[in-house]
Amino acid sequence: MDFNDVKKKYDDYVLSTYTRQDICLVRGEGVWVEDIEGRKYLDFFPGWAVSGTGHRHPRVVRRIKAQADEILHVSNNFYNTLQGELARKIISNSFPGKVFFSNSGAEANEGAIKLARRYGKGERFEIITMERSFHGRTLATLTATGQEKVKSGFRPLPEGFRHVPFNDIKAFASAVTEKTVAVMIELIQGEGGINVADREYIEELKRICGEKDILIIADEVQTGMGRTGEFFAFRHYGFEPDAMTLAKSLGGGMPIGALVVSERLKDVLPPGTHASTFGGSPIACAASLGVFEAIEEEGLIDNVKEMSAYLLEKLEALGKRKTIIGQIKGKGLMIGVEMLIEDASPVADECLKEGLLINCTQKKVLRIMPPITVTRKEIDEAVARLEKALERI
Ligand SMILES: *Cc1c(COP(=O)(O)O)cnc(C)c1O
Repeated sequence: MDFNDVKKKYDDYVLSTYTRQDICLVRGEGVWVEDIEGRKYLDFFPGWAVSGTGHRHPRVVRRIKAQADEILHVSNNFYNTLQGELARKIISNSFPGKVFFSNSGAEANEGAIKLARRYGKGERFEIITMERSFHGRTLATLTATGQEKVKSGFRPLPEGFRHVPFNDIKAFASAVTEKTVAVMIELIQGEGGINVADREYIEELKRICGEKDILIIADEVQTGMGRTGEFFAFRHYGFEPDAMTLAKSLGGGMPIGALVVSERLKDVLPPGTHASTFGGSPIACAASLGVFEAIEEEGLIDNVKEMSAYLLEKLEALGKRKTIIGQIKGKGLMIGVEMLIEDASPVADECLKEGLLINCTQKKVLRIMPPITVTRKEIDEAVARLEKALERI
């Protein structure tokens, strides 16, 4: 099979909802991927952060293989041996509470929205979200998303969502009404261009929400699992959210998401109120337990801190040589490099030609999120490739 055969089948049979690069990836290992023509790429944007512990992490692969010899799926009307253990791992690394398993980030956020609606008992139902946020592509989560481009053509949308500018506490305070039941927030906006919430902003937000009994839902679908140099981004802010959503790197490449709710909310969704057929299947939980094992046994959070400092140092040095580079922002290994040009997508395209996968978001921001297993040598190589790519801009 060559690339043209692959492409033709997509052209003939797959809905064209995505813009796609002309590359078919066939193999991955750690920070590297290989395409069908044998070209190798350094992957500094592994599947939108899904392969957060790198491609085919050995601990993830080992667990999947072992589980594949036992049972793949068990309905949630029975117990399986792994789901409870995975929930325990998530809780012991976040806050006291309980977990509902889904298959994706959008589905985890849908669960959070349903949780908030039930918490409001029909009297309060409004959820405040941020401009430039991203929460998913289902009808409710695209409504929550603070970007017009995901909503266009899909109206009428569900009621009860309001958007406010990020990091603007006055705007938040004035959007609160007697109907407000929750705020949903990415503590570091990913799609929105790597925008980091200010500490004082979150402190004030927490104060207002505490006074008015408004739930804080942290969307950690992209920031979770060590990405920002803490297990979860809320830890940078010294508070615990009422609920948190996870997906992306939670499964190390397998589809799994989670809605984590704090202890006091554990009875808001009683039996019969929410479900997902595939949620928390043994095969997905096995992979996720492999991710936890990798993070814990290999000291990956410390690696994120060290490699973050190193990568930022290299990028800042590069910024001194290349005037096209503006502000560098982010936390841990979730880094945005602002480009001082109208449209920075050609930079990502040139990086691709150099064998470096990165992303460009909000037109001007290069999004760099290598696997949290990344080494100094791999960072040296990536920054060298980025520099070469920039020479052609
Ligand atoms: C990717 C993402 C989602 C949606 O996750 P899916 O698995 O694509 O549904 C939600 N929130 C954030 C912050 C994301 O980055």
